[in-house]
Parts: sequence; C-alpha cells; structure tokens
Amino acid sequence: MGNQRSLMDIFNNNKKIILEAGKYTEDELKKLIDAIADVERIRHSIIEKIEEHKCIDISRLKSELSLSEKNLVCDLEYLKEFGYLNNVGETPRFFHTEIQNLKNFGIFPNVKLVRDNNLCCGCGSCVSLCPVSAITYSKGTFEIDEEICIRCGSCYTCCPRSFFPKALAAPKDEDYKNTKFSEQFSYYRDIFTAQTTNFDITQVAQDGGIVTTLLKMAFNQNLIDGALVVTEGLEPLNPLPVFIEREEDLLKTAGTKYTNSPILKEFYKYRDCKKIAVVGTPCIMKALKKLSFYPLHIPFYDNIAIKIGLLCSESFDYSEITKLLKNEFQSTPADVKKMDINKGRFFIYNNDGTVLDIPIKKIKKYGRFGCFFCEDLTAIHTDISVGSIGSNAGWSTVFIRTEKGVEFFQKALDLNMIVKKKIEEDSKSFNSLSRIAKNKIKRYEDLRRPEMKEQDPSARIKNFAEVSFGLTEEMVELETLRCLQCGNPLCVSGCPVNIKIPQFIKLLKQKKYKNALYKVKSDNLLPAICGRVCPQEAQCEKVCLLNNLGEPIAIGALERFIADWERRNKLKECPECAAPKGIKVAVIGAGPAGLTCAGELAMNGYDVTIFEAFHAGGGVLLYGIPQFRLPKEIIKSEIETLEMLNVKFEYNSIIGKILTIDDLKDMGFKAFFIGVGAGLPMLMKIPGMNLNGVLSSNEFLTRSNLMQAFRFPDYDTPVNIGKIISVIGGGNTALDSARTALRLGAEKVIIVYRRSEAEMPARKEEYHHALEEGIEFQFLTNPVRFIGNDNDNVTQMEVIKMKLGEPDESGRRRPIRIEGSEYLIDTDTIIIGIGTGANPILTKSIPELKLNKWGYIETDENGQTNFEDIFAGGDIVTGTATVITAMGAAKEAAHAIDKYLQEKYLDKK
Ligand code: FAD
Repeated sequence: MGNQRSLMDIFNNNKKIILEAGKYTEDELKKLIDAIADVERIRHSIIEKIEEHKCIDISRLKSELSLSEKNLVCDLEYLKEFGYLNNVGETPRFFHTEIQNLKNFGIFPNVKLVRDNNLCCGCGSCVSLCPVSAITYSKGTFEIDEEICIRCGSCYTCCPRSFFPKALAAPKDEDYKNTKFSEQFSYYRDIFTAQTTNFDITQVAQDGGIVTTLLKMAFNQNLIDGALVVTEGLEPLNPLPVFIEREEDLLKTAGTKYTNSPILKEFYKYRDCKKIAVVGTPCIMKALKKLSFYPLHIPFYDNIAIKIGLLCSESFDYSEITKLLKNEFQSTPADVKKMDINKGRFFIYNNDGTVLDIPIKKIKKYGRFGCFFCEDLTAIHTDISVGSIGSNAGWSTVFIRTEKGVEFFQKALDLNMIVKKKIEEDSKSFNSLSRIAKNKIKRYEDLRRPEMKEQDPSARIKNFAEVSFGLTEEMVELETLRCLQCGNPLCVSGCPVNIKIPQFIKLLKQKKYKNALYKVKSDNLLPAICGRVCPQEAQCEKVCLLNNLGEPIAIGALERFIADWERRNKLKECPECAAPKGIKVAVIGAGPAGLTCAGELAMNGYDVTIFEAFHAGGGVLLYGIPQFRLPKEIIKSEIETLEMLNVKFEYNSIIGKILTIDDLKDMGFKAFFIGVGAGLPMLMKIPGMNLNGVLSSNEFLTRSNLMQAFRFPDYDTPVNIGKIISVIGGGNTALDSARTALRLGAEKVIIVYRRSEAEMPARKEEYHHALEEGIEFQFLTNPVRFIGNDNDNVTQMEVIKMKLGEPDESGRRRPIRIEGSEYLIDTDTIIIGIGTGANPILTKSIPELKLNKWGYIETDENGQTNFEDIFAGGDIVTGTATVITAMGAAKEAAHAIDKYLQEKYLDKK
C-alpha cells in the first residue's frame, strides 16, 4: 500500500494546475500533503496490525496504535470500503471497478473517480463538491480531468449513493391514517413558527429572518467566531460557500437561497475551528458528516458549534430547459417551473393538463437542487432547521432537533431577538406540515413493494386452492418503475440461472409482455414455478440495491406475473432451437434439474429423452410441494414448453431397475445426465418410530399430492390423520406437511423444531403463511420418543428443550439438549420432515460411479462424474437444496455435456 511517492507525484505534477485553478495557496497545499501523508501512514499501520492480529480487534488496535476509537472506526470503514479488509470484512459496493487499481497505488488519496454507470444517478453532487473543479458534466456523462484531479476522494465521499438511508422503518398501521405532522416528525424536539424582532433583518431576510438573527445572536454572545453559509450565490448555477467572519457582514447572505455547492475548500480552511456555525441544505449537512472524517482526522462535523439546516431550493437555468423542451421534446410548456421530481424523472406540466415525463439526466445538467435521495424536507442532520412551510408572511417554521439546538434557540428567545408562536391546528402551517407528513408516508409507499393479494387464512385452510393470487397489471406497472436498472446488476449474479432481470423488468415496464417472457424463458424454462417457490429473499432479491433504501424489487412476483400472463392468454412462448445435431442424450429424472438440463440441450440441437420413474414429470414439484403453493397444472404447462422443444418423455421408467445406463447406451444415447434427486426420507432413531400414525413427510405429501388424498371422497385414497398433528422439522417439507394436514381437517398442528426461528431453512413467505394459518411452532424442542397405546397407535410424544451451541459444519448453531426439560405432547399423528437422503436405486446399478460418504454423486464443478459421458446435478449431488440451485447446476452440466459431445463427436465430423 505504501506508495507515497506516487501520491507526491500526483500533487507535484499537478501543483501548477491546482494553484492556477486558485483552489489552494502554496501553503495550504503543503499542509494538505502533510496531513494526507500522515493519514496514509496511520492506515498503513492499521493494515499491518490487522495482518499481525489476523482479525479486527478494536481495543487492541486502539491501544497499540494510540488512536481514538472514532478515528479508528473511520479508518476501518474506509479500508473496508476499498477492499483492503476483504478477507476480514464485507466487500465494498461502490466503485468496484476501481478498487483493484487503487490497491496498486496506495490507499489515500489515490481515489480515482470513475463514474460507475451502474450506480450513478446523475445528481451532480460530485461536480459541485470537487475542490479543484476537475469534474464536468455534459450530455449526461461525467468527464474527469485526470490532470487536475488531486484524488482527494470528496466526490466519492459525497456521492448520494453512499448516503442511502438505512431501510425505512415500516410505519405502523395507524400511521397511515394519521396525517398530523407531529407524529411523523417525531424526531424533532419542537416545531413552531418564529420571527425576528430586528427591523434591519426583516428588510432583507426571507420569511421570519430566523437564520440571520440566530447567527447575529451567536456572534453577539461569542458563541461563534464565524459562519459558513452555503448559498445559491449571485448566479443561479454558481452556488457559493460564503464565510462570514464578522457580525456586520451577516446581511450579505441574508435572503439568499440555499443549494448544494462546493464546500470542501471552505471546510478544509476551517478544519480547526470549533466555534463556527454552518448553514446549509440537508445534503450539505450529510456531506459534511462524511467529509468530517475524510480526508483529515479531524471530526469537523462534531466540532461545529451549531448546524442550521435550510430547505433546499432549486437552481435552474430555465431558459436552457425551455430550449431543451422545444428542441428535443417538441413541447413548450407554459410554466416550466412547475416541475415535479419523482424516481429519477421530471414531470413538467403543460397548460392543457398533460404531463411531460423526462428523465432526470436530461434536465439535471441545467441546474442543481436538493437531490431526491434526501429523506426529508428538512435537514435531519442539523440542530435547528428553518423553512417557510406554510407559515404566514413574515414568519418561518422552525424545527429543533437536538438539545444543543434547544439551548441555542432559547438564548435568542431570552434575549428577545426572536419571538415564537405555537402552530395551531387550524393554521396554514399545520395543514402544510400535515400534507408533507402525508407525502412522507406516500414516499414510503413508493419505496414499498406491492403485496400480493391472498386468500384469507380462515378460508384457505379449508381448501387446496393457491394461497397467493399474484400481482395485478397495475401493481406490476408501479413495481417496474422502482427498478433502478443497474448497469451491472447484482440481482443477475444472485440468480443461479442468471436470468437477465433488469432487461425483463424493463420490457415489462414498456408493457412488451411477450418480449419480457421470451427474455425470461431464454434463461429459465420454468418461470411460473420459480416465481412461486424460489427463495428469492436469499438470492436475487437479497442483493437488490433497493434493500438499502426500503424494500427490494419483487423479482419473483414479476417473474410469476409474466409466466401467468402467458398461460392466461393461452400463449406458448418457447426459445428457438439450434439445428438438430443428430446426437441422443438421456436425462434421468424429470425434476427441476432434469427438465432444465433437457431444455438447454434441446435448445442446442440435441435429441433428448427424459426417463422418469413416476407417471408424470416435475419431481418434488409434483409430489412434494402442495397444490396450494404450486398448482399441478402449472407444472404441466411448463413441461409442455419442453415438449415444444421436442424433448421426449419416457414415464414409468425407473433407471437402474427397468433399464440400466448400459441399456441406454445400447439404445444409442451418447451422454447421460442424472437428476434423480434425494428422495429417500430420513427417519429418526428414537423409540416408537414403528408406531401406527408415525410417517415421513415424503409418504404423507406424496399420498396427498400424487394420490389426490386431498380430493377424498372424489378420490378413494384418504389419509387418516386424526385431530392433533405434530410435524418434526423446520424446512419447507415440514411446513408443507403441516399446512397440508390443516387442510385435510386437522384441528391443531404443532411444528417441533430443534433450532430457533432464525435458523429455520423454510422460505420466509411460507413461514409467514403458516403462522397466519394458526400453525403452532415449538422452537428449540426435539422429540425423545414416541408413545403409543395398546393398539400401537401413537398418542403422545416426549420432547426435550434445546439450547444453541457453537455453529456446526452447516454453519448453523448446534442444538444441545437441556437435560431434565422433557415434557409430553398429545398427538394423533407424527409427520417426520427432517430431510431426505440419496436414493440408491440408480447409483447402485453403476458400481464404479464415485459417490461421497452420504451416497451423493461426486462431480467436478461442471457436473461431470468419474465417467466422461455421465453428468449429474441437483439434489443427487448436493443433497436437498432448492429448485433454482438444482436448475443452475443442471444448466452448467448441460453446457459441459455440449462441450463433451462437441469435442467427441461433432468436431470430428
Ligand atoms: P427432484 O425434484 O427430486 O426430482 C428427481 C426426479 O427423478 C423425480 O421425478 C424422481 O421421480 C426421478 N427419479 C428418481 N430416481 C429415478 C430413477 N432411478 N429413474 C428415473 N427417475 C428417477 N425448493 C425450493 O426452492 N422452494 C421450495 O419452496 C421448496 N419446497 C420444497 C418442499 C418439499 C416438500 C420438498 C421435499 C422439497 C422442497 N424444495 C423446495 C426442494 C426442491 O424441491 C428440490 O431441491 C428440487 O426439487 C431438486 O430437484 P432435482 O431435480 O434435483 O430432484
């Protein structure tokens, strides 16, 4: 890391330019270099120590390096962000592309600004904050003048994308109805209106003249010896930070508007000053908060005597905007100023009531204003905020947030420099603030993902119809608007089959449903299934950037929508196939893995036959997952897509019993994919397992799903389960069994799980549904024995309480028995849903096939086994996992099969 020579080179090479740009005096530049070198040295020693300690031990680092905790934490954050602590911390999210380069040059200040197309929102903050004006903004893109850039990193530091507020707290139900601002702005200590008593100030200042009066009071009382006031300046696009050193100069900035502006230089100048007031917009305050730690070790923000926040005002060159509208949009709206900004788009209202919807980037270049990433209308990072929200002429609305703010304001009141008034319920201010509060809730709503309509729990526990109804077209329209369309989307890498998520969402947004469907299907032939059963919260949606702002895009629900749209409209989209290659491939097992591998190979022109033990395809989807989660007709319909790709199905064919792989070879198959799943139920080794009424989830669910037990008496195959059912396990299988039992007439269903709620592997949505349906959960509990009556029918089970110990090989904390905590649970049926193992029927028939100690097939990363022509994927390789991981593995294997066949048979032709 220690590449200080290159750092000095940068400064020295650019010295002339920097000085010419008038940004620093020679002396200032020298001090800056010294300070920066100092910081670099400290960071270097932190890394060395961490390497020595092999962990981040804050207290050791603090004492060994004699650093304050605050500085240390800042440095650690910084190092983490730039990838230096990747092995001990999280990987950085921003400016990924450059991190590697940074490593080659040293840590600080070699921050090379790269406009990250994936994340840039075009707000222009970096342009306004650059201390050496090295960044220009034109035609929607940033240009960085490398010659001028001093790599100070302020642009990076102030990027609003790094200001993403933490997930918004969900308002309580009653908050929706409550539009009174006081509850919505509860983080303020007081909100009132006020005005100055100083005649001179009223002549020049805006509204109540509060800011100028507060500063005057502070000068008078010797509370400050300067004020950094960030104002709009004389020209609209040239905002200025003004430093006021004397009380007499105060009126110079009174009455000006406030906007974001270059502050770094001023900030740097007054870094040692503890008695200044800063007046600025929310984003300035936020920026200061970050800048305080960067580039210097001086907690500037905390040292400011008082922070006064102002509503941000737009600063636009309207004549340019009008030109743009005329030329590019053939529109001349009467009032350009009546603009509204929402989700990265401007809405400009025409006289005739129509609205022009323009991307933010088009207009941003003509002005600057509080960016829409600001969470609030007032600066929540300040002590006092002032605005004119609905206040009567000559009055300002004042928000006091901190104790410091209360004391400061009280002084001005005590000195009779300001008078204040309560906001009455029937006043204009009250109404305006309530309206803002309402919008705040609406904003939350905007960031919220749509909730699918569902069958009411009391009704659905009596039927097997699907629980969720899916999204409506209107919901889809709104949801697609929320997608940030990241250029380098994390969601795609979060999806095991790499569906091009942003592209399909974009097509949905444009209402090009057919194209959207095509886009999804070219990566996933089972979208209606995956949209319903994938654990998106742990995959694509987990990494969606919007997690940081509110809630992630409902990717699964959108995928389901488009697949359902296809079925509703009786369409059948299927990707095109390559020309037939005349080579036969056998796929064994028609579960998600087999179906996916077959589809991929068929699209590649192979002649594929699926051999399936059962009478129908789908695997666990068909006989495991119940109808109310995944209707059977959906599986049938998705299998039809494969039939359209000319995949042949041989049902009732147990490979390993009826036919062997050698038989298939004799039939002309040149490669084999094994996707037979892990269907062997795991049972418990405890007394009472043989009692009547103790059964595995596999048996129970198969009898319900395949033998249509749930359609009794239409079907003559009921499952007799009694009234009280106990289910053992915490995964999808256990939950599906419990919810099926409820629908088959059980009066009480208890799930007994040996770990805690947090370790439960079931899909979050299913757990939520189970709770709604009244399933009782007994966590940290495990059966010890099952007890029966004289007829050997189970009647009770003895369970023991557990506690969690250290993590086991699965990474989850190991449950440990609490001796003496045993108790009895009455029960009529016990369903064991603790997992499944590898079914040996096929593997036994290929004695040389390499298996691991649990009987799962061993493959390389491409799914190839120790036989060059036999590949495998899905649960039979990994053990029970998920539908989409099985599909991902199958896709990989299909590519490997293609490569193998290509090299072995086709390249030679
Ligand atoms: P399987 O789906 O098991 O398919 C294997 C196929 O091979 C079967 O059709 C079988 O009949 C056939 N077969 C077996 N042996 C032979 C043979 N010798 N010859 C011919 N054919 C043979 N995952 C999720 O992502 N979301 C969920 O909500 C979810 N819920 C689940 C609920 C239950 C009750 C269960 C049991 C599992 C659930 N899973 C879920 C897990 C998921 O279903 C599996 O990980 C996935 O189905 C594995 O796919 P696969 O193709 O490897 O195997």
